[in-house]
Amino acid sequence: MEQKAKAVICREINQPVVVEEILVEAPRRGEVMIKLAACGVCHSDLSATNGTIPFPPPVVLGHEGAGKIIAVGEVVTDYKVGDHVVSSFVSMCGKCRYCQTGRPQLCDQAGKAATTLPDGTLRTRDLAGNPLNIFSGCGVMAEYATLHIDNVVKVDQQMPLDKAALIGCGVMTGVGAAVNTAKVDPGSIAVVFGCGGVGLNTIQGSAIAGARMIVAVDTNDGKLEMARKFGATHVVNSKNEENVVKTILKLTDGGADYAFECVGLGEIAAQAYGVLRKGGTAVVVGVAGPKDMTSIRTASLTFGEKTLTGSYFGSARPREDFPRLIGLYRAHRLKLDELISHTYTIDQAPQAFADMQAGRNARGVIIFE
Ligand code: NAD
Ligand code: ZN
Repeated sequence: MEQKAKAVICREINQPVVVEEILVEAPRRGEVMIKLAACGVCHSDLSATNGTIPFPPPVVLGHEGAGKIIAVGEVVTDYKVGDHVVSSFVSMCGKCRYCQTGRPQLCDQAGKAATTLPDGTLRTRDLAGNPLNIFSGCGVMAEYATLHIDNVVKVDQQMPLDKAALIGCGVMTGVGAAVNTAKVDPGSIAVVFGCGGVGLNTIQGSAIAGARMIVAVDTNDGKLEMARKFGATHVVNSKNEENVVKTILKLTDGGADYAFECVGLGEIAAQAYGVLRKGGTAVVVGVAGPKDMTSIRTASLTFGEKTLTGSYFGSARPREDFPRLIGLYRAHRLKLDELISHTYTIDQAPQAFADMQAGRNARGVIIFE
């Protein structure tokens, strides 16, 4: 049951995304076909179009999608037609050493097949018959997508799919960085650099975990206003600061327990590390370009017992954590409605990317018919 589908594609690096009709093949062994309801636009999608995250074009973008299963392949027993699912841009093979030790976000299978399905093949091609890569096992910025079940998580049918989609990247990444990776503790001080779709969720994750002081840092006043709504107690526009690290050290009376880099620049990772108190932890969430480097004073690691670490997909165990996040949303403790600052049709996708680049959105979401 092949489907024609409109899809958002990066055809050429450093060019705007294009919307094209493509062909999506029926699911094979262990796969499902999804009719997408919504897909969030993440900075990582943009990074795939400019070489920051190297994905060879042409590539069908999208890794923050939710929809309904409309077909299942052979040996698929846990999913059926009609199930609601959210994509997971890390695949969970269940067999590698990382999956086996409870760290599916580091699954070996995901690393081996970043632009295809886990077996290295594709179900996507253009109308001329040329294969199209997919973003991180997903490619869900399309009306239909065929994914391996290792890249999907079933969610409650009552959960609105536009909100559910956001859990597939921004929310899981941001909240997870605070709750799973850093394990922010009650009464602590957290500083979040970058208040986009990911950073706003790191802020609300820190608030959920009980941080008493949450300092949001951005270069855009509009984002800092949003940050307050998501739980920031203090905001700093780094554009107005001669030395943002000094300002934050003063504001936090000697430094933060946790600092998060949610921009994707080594320079900001160094700032995050710089605002730590002794014993503090800096978490790099943003994805920097392949040549980007950072530097820190080595001895400060030793004398200050500081930790510098990364967080991929919020250290998620998606099958466990997605339902947990949905539970928090239902309990009115996780803001998802407020995250969707603008919705777009698929034809408006280029505008959604431009708006993200211009800093106009918390999260822009493409809604499919
Ligand atoms: P976004 O574009 O929505 O937000 C980025 C924010 O950073 C904006 O508010 C922008 O104003 C701010 N910013 C830019 N330069 C800044 C500076 N010098 N100082 C302070 N703030 C600055 O992006 P997003 O979707 O939130 O993604 C953020 C980063 O996280 C990207 O690098 C993305 O690739 C990465 N990401 C990582 C993971 C992961 O698993 N670790 C998952 C998703 C996204
Ligand atoms: Zn993302």
